[in-house]
Amino acid sequence: MGTEGNLRLIRKIKPDVLIGMPTFIYHVLLEAAKEGVRCENLRRVVLGGEKVSDGVRRKLANLGSALGSTRIDIIATYGFTEAKMAWGECPCALDATPGGYHLYPDLGIFEVINPRTGERVSSGEPGELVFTPLDARGTVVLRYRTGDFIDGGLVYEPCPHCGRKMPRLVGNISRSSEVKEMRLDKLKGTLVDFNQLEHVLDDAEHVGAWQLELRKRNDDPLEVDELVLHVQKADSVADEKLIRDLNNRFVARTEVHLNRIVFHDADAMRELHGVGVQLKEQKIVDHRKAAPASGRSSRPEDVNDGRGPCSAETLEVTG
Ligand SMILES: [Zn+2]
Repeated sequence: MGTEGNLRLIRKIKPDVLIGMPTFIYHVLLEAAKEGVRCENLRRVVLGGEKVSDGVRRKLANLGSALGSTRIDIIATYGFTEAKMAWGECPCALDATPGGYHLYPDLGIFEVINPRTGERVSSGEPGELVFTPLDARGTVVLRYRTGDFIDGGLVYEPCPHCGRKMPRLVGNISRSSEVKEMRLDKLKGTLVDFNQLEHVLDDAEHVGAWQLELRKRNDDPLEVDELVLHVQKADSVADEKLIRDLNNRFVARTEVHLNRIVFHDADAMRELHGVGVQLKEQKIVDHRKAAPASGRSSRPEDVNDGRGPCSAETLEVTG
C-alpha cells in the first residue's frame, strides 16, 4: 500500500486504532502530521515486533496530538512465533509506570528462569522467559526457552491500572542475541548490549528515526569494527548540536563510542530501514561480513542481498 496509500486510508476512514511496527507507524504518522492530516478519532496505537521505549511512546503520542487526537494510548505487545499469540500491555498514562503484559493463564504457562541454572526465580525477579502453551495446535513447544529476558519478572498482584488479577510480565523485555561482541580495538572483543544502545537512541531528543550500522573500517575484513549511526532528525536542530548531544549521551550511558553520525532525510531513512521491503525495519545492520569492494556505499542495494545485514534477532554472536 505504501505510505501514500496508508495516508489516503487514514484520511478516508479516520481509524480509532492503528496497529504496526513502531518505526513504520512512526513514519506514517510523521508524514501524516507533515501533510496536515486530521485523525481526531485515533485513540490507540498498538505496537508489535520490537520493544517500545519511553521515547518512542512519547514521540508517537505527540504525533497523535498533532493529528488532533485528544486521548491516545500507546500499547506495546509481546509475542513470538512459537507461542502463536501475543500479549498486550494495559493502557496507562504516558508518565505512569506501565502495568506490564497481561497473560492468559488458561492458554499458557510462563515461567521465568535463571538462564545459567535453569531454575525458576521468585516472583518479580529478572530472568529468561520460558513458555508452555496449554491449548496450542500443530507444532507445540514445551517449556520453550525464548531467549528473551525480562528485567521486572513475573508478578501476581492485581494490575495497578485496571485491577485485573491475571499474572503480568513487568519491565523491559530484551533478546539475548542483541548482546554482541565487537572488536572496537585491535586487542580484545568488547561485548555490546544493543538493547541498551536502542534505549539511548529511542529516548534521545531531536532524533526521529535511526539506524545503527556495524562495519569494518575501510571495509577491510581484518580491520577493527566501526559503529556508524544514521539519523533522521525530528526537528530543525543544528547538526553540530545533535552530534555533540548524541556523542555525550553515548559516553555517559554506554561504554561505546560512535565512529560517525550521518544525517538522512525521511526517504533515505525509509530505504535504509527497508520500509515496505523488509518484514521488520532494519534498525541494527551488520555489514562486517560483506566482501570488501572499492567505492562501496552502505546503501539499500546492500540491504537485500541476503549476505551481510540481518535483523537484530539473527545477528551472530561471535566469540
Ligand atoms: Zn491492567
